[in-house]
Amino acid sequence: MPKDIRSLTIEELTSEITQMGFPAFRAKQIYSWVQEKCVSSFDEMTNIPASLRTSLSEKFSFFGCKINTKLVSKIDGTVKYLFELYDGEYVESVVMKYKYGYSICVSSQVGCKMGCTFCASAIGGFVRQLSAGEMISEVFTAQKDLGVKINHLVLMGTGEPLDNFDNVMRFIELLTDEKGQNMSIRHISLSTCGIVPKIYELADKKLGLTLSVSLHAPNDEIRSQSMPVNLRYNIDELLSACQYYENKTGRRISFEYAMIKGLNDSDGAATELASRLKGTLCHVNLIPVNNVRERNYEKSTLDRQKRFADILEKNGITATVRRTLGSDINASCGQLRASKRKTGD
Ligand code: SAH
Repeated sequence: MPKDIRSLTIEELTSEITQMGFPAFRAKQIYSWVQEKCVSSFDEMTNIPASLRTSLSEKFSFFGCKINTKLVSKIDGTVKYLFELYDGEYVESVVMKYKYGYSICVSSQVGCKMGCTFCASAIGGFVRQLSAGEMISEVFTAQKDLGVKINHLVLMGTGEPLDNFDNVMRFIELLTDEKGQNMSIRHISLSTCGIVPKIYELADKKLGLTLSVSLHAPNDEIRSQSMPVNLRYNIDELLSACQYYENKTGRRISFEYAMIKGLNDSDGAATELASRLKGTLCHVNLIPVNNVRERNYEKSTLDRQKRFADILEKNGITATVRRTLGSDINASCGQLRASKRKTGD
């Protein structure tokens, strides 16, 4: 199987090219075609001699994303893609337009092992990891299709990024490389359901990215009901890891909290959450749970969300009720892929 050329760092590419008997400056040129100019074939590399292009095509390939379905929200212009991968698997990405530019939400795995009961990505389980190059391709394919430069990234699509740690780190390294897309690390958020040892590992890297933690509950009893990962790493262990992350990086953690009617949205839950988070440099994002066809959770009312946020604020925890984008196109991740699996077309 050829190597995915989009997964290689400049150092790795240089070593490959020199081993093939070509000068190192060719690697720089090729890298620029791949990571800066975002080509998707060797033929587009017009300053590379034909003999080298032929050798490249024997050793490497572009394992890119093909657009299978594209949905555009009539409400806010949010674009959702269902991409087909080289092996016929599907992943989703969503591009959102903000005042500050374009932001893409990428998937890090095909399917997911984590089994959160409210999440459409869990349906059907885990299929495989995405390579760094495939995640790069999610960004490039969307950029090319929309004709825009995407300057913010959230790793909040299907999959658990910390369960694909090495490929995700490589993806971030490539995307932030100044000789490639030069995306600012400050413009990258990574969301995790709470794989505690990997949060420590990430903290030790001291990257400037924003860590989002999907908390969704004020105590272990509620969290373990909907997030099996909590049986492995409980809230105390998770919050200690978050504290370590903050100490190492000086960055405020963002906690995601999907509000589910009658399950985690009471006044008592808000007070308990606030006392748990006291002393942590953090922000809570309240999101109304998205109805997933296969599950029977209901969204909390807007009044309930606001009241929950008020209680957090009164107890010294900053919180926002998050605006939902793309609600008419089922923009939350996993939903399109799940419907594809269902119809089997
Ligand atoms: N595995 C990572 C990345 C997925 S990010 C994580 O768990 O953080 C996707 C975010 O959407 C997570 O916060 C996830 O908990 C949340 N989510 C999943 N299903 C949802 C739903 N039906 N409604 C609202 N949020 C949901």
